[in-house]
Amino acid sequence: MRPETPTARTLVLDAPELGSTVAGQHVDIRLTAEDGYTAQRSYSLGSATGARPVEVTVERFEDGEVSPYLVEDVGVGDPLEIRGPIGGWFVWRPEQAEPVQLIAGGSGIVPLMAMIRTHHAAGSAAPFRLLYGVQDPDRRYYRDELEMLAGPALRVDVRYSRSAPAGTPVGRIGPAELAELTVPPEQRPTVYVCGPTGFVEAVADGLLRLGHAPERIRTERFGPSG
Ligand SMILES: Cc1cc2nc3c(=O)[nH]c(=O)nc-3n(C[C@H](O)[C@H](O)[C@H](O)COP(=O)(O)OP(=O)(O)OC[C@H]3O[C@@H](n4cnc5c(N)ncnc54)[C@H](O)[C@@H]3O)c2cc1C
Repeated sequence: MRPETPTARTLVLDAPELGSTVAGQHVDIRLTAEDGYTAQRSYSLGSATGARPVEVTVERFEDGEVSPYLVEDVGVGDPLEIRGPIGGWFVWRPEQAEPVQLIAGGSGIVPLMAMIRTHHAAGSAAPFRLLYGVQDPDRRYYRDELEMLAGPALRVDVRYSRSAPAGTPVGRIGPAELAELTVPPEQRPTVYVCGPTGFVEAVADGLLRLGHAPERIRTERFGPSG
């Protein structure tokens, strides 16, 4: 286990029976109480395609059923019930040579990080760009690793919605940020958008207005669960 932020933790899962994984996929984690009550939630894999052990990063929801247990209580060696990997559309494969725009809101960075790690491990020449929206600097996941990987192969922009380091603007990702900080539609990027439902819908709408083709926009909504 690794703390990622004050409210999020990465769990490294030794899951030898999990089939081969692709960046962008998720697993379902099921908890069972002593009285037999079960609760199941989905968590994206943050680890690169094929990497073992696999990793997930979980954000704690104060009043949540599952996430507080995964962030605070589960211990090294505790067994977890995992099903997956799941998903075949919201994935990136190194065979894809086209430019890629990644847009994350909060914990939505997790499957996009799997794509970034896969891109790096494969030495892919596909241009990658990340726009990462997060509430404040303390909430940033994978900060050191992203700073290390940022460069000609991966451009990284972060926007803070509540508080930001001095000299950095504060505000949500809106039409102006999408126009200024993403790969333009003329370059025909594949765009992956992941985060809370409202974030994903607003961003996808903004991308369509900029002229991106609907079939080039892939989305993953993180909840809340029904
Ligand atoms: C495909 C997929 C991948 C996911 N990957 C991740 C991941 O990598 N990391 C991660 O932390 N979470 C991820 N999630 C969200 C996760 O499945 C749970 O929804 C989340 O951990 C909350 O579960 P909980 O049992 O703690 O809260 P619940 O008991 O389900 O809900 C508690 C309260 O929080 C609200 N809530 C729950 N989830 C959200 C949300 N996402 N946004 C806003 N409000 C919410 C509920 O409405 C409720 O009020 C993913 C979801 C999906 C569908």
